[in-house]
Amino acid sequence: MTPGAGGVIALDVGGTRIKGVVVDGRGEPVESAQWPTRAERGPDAVLDTVLRCADELRARARRRGSPPRAAGIAVPGLVDETSGTSVLAANLGWRRLPVRGRAEEHLGLPVAFGHDVRAGGLAESRLGAGRDCASFAFVPVGTGIAAALLLDGRPFAGARGFAGELGHLVVRPGGEPCVCGNRGCVEALASASAIARRYGEASGRTGASTEDVRARAVSGDRPAVRVWTEAVEALADGLAGLTALLDLDRLVIGGGLALAGEAYLAPLRTALAERLPFRPVPPLVAAELGDRAGSLGAALLARDLLADGGR
Ligand SMILES: [Zn+2]
Repeated sequence: MTPGAGGVIALDVGGTRIKGVVVDGRGEPVESAQWPTRAERGPDAVLDTVLRCADELRARARRRGSPPRAAGIAVPGLVDETSGTSVLAANLGWRRLPVRGRAEEHLGLPVAFGHDVRAGGLAESRLGAGRDCASFAFVPVGTGIAAALLLDGRPFAGARGFAGELGHLVVRPGGEPCVCGNRGCVEALASASAIARRYGEASGRTGASTEDVRARAVSGDRPAVRVWTEAVEALADGLAGLTALLDLDRLVIGGGLALAGEAYLAPLRTALAERLPFRPVPPLVAAELGDRAGSLGAALLARDLLADGGR
C-alpha cells in the first residue's frame, strides 16, 4: 500500500466470521484478527459486535503507537455506498441499517463503507492478481458467486450499486431454483453450496465438501463427475457472457473453490475457450489475497478516504 495516509483499521463482516486488519501509517498490514459473527443473535447484536471488534482493533493499533485516523467496513449483500447503508444483508439480518453513521458516531473517526466483493476486488487490483490490469473481474466462488468489476481502472458499482451479480445470470432457463427466486442461475449450479447440495441429491450421500466432490470426480464417481462438470460449465457460461460483453484484461477467480488451483482453473479455462470461438480468451488466474481480500480492500477504502481529505 502507498505510504503517508495514516494508519487505519478495517473490518470485513461476513455471515460466519468478522475479519479485521490493522494497517500502519506506512500502509503495511501489521495485525489481523477474526471473530465469530453469531448472526443468529439478531441485527442489533451483530452491529454491536462489529463496533466492539473495531474498538479492539483500535486498541491494538494504539498499543503499536499508530492510532488509526480512519476505519473501513465491508459488508455483503445490497450496499448503498453513497449513504453508508446496508440495504439488505440476509445472512447478517440487516435491512436498511445506516452502518457508516453508527460506526462514525461510535468511533469518532471517518468511516469508509463498501461492498465486500468490490472491496476484495479493489485489494486484488492494487495488491494482488489484478495488478497492472485496467479492466478485470474478481470472481469469488464460495457460498455464493459475485463479480467485482474494475473498468478502465475504476471500481464499477452500477447505477444502484447492484452491478456484478454474475451468480444470478440465468444460464439454464427453467433450471434449478436459486436463492434469488429465479431458476437456472449460475450460482444455483456452480457455487460451493450448490455443488455440495446437488452431489448429496445425486448420490444420496450427504455432508461431502466441494473438495470431496472434486476428488470423487477425479476417481470416476459418476454423480460427482456430473455435478462437478455442470458446475464448471455453468460458471464458464457466466464468464463467457461477461467476456463477450466487457472484453476484460483478466479474470481473477477467488473464494473457496479457487483453493483447488489448477484442478479447478484448467477445466474452467477449457470450457471458457469452447464458448468464445470468435475471440481471444482472457487469462484466467487464481486470486492472490485469499480470505484477506475483503479486509485489505476495506483498509484501502479507509486510506483513500484520508487521502481525499474525508468525504
Ligand atoms: Zn439467482
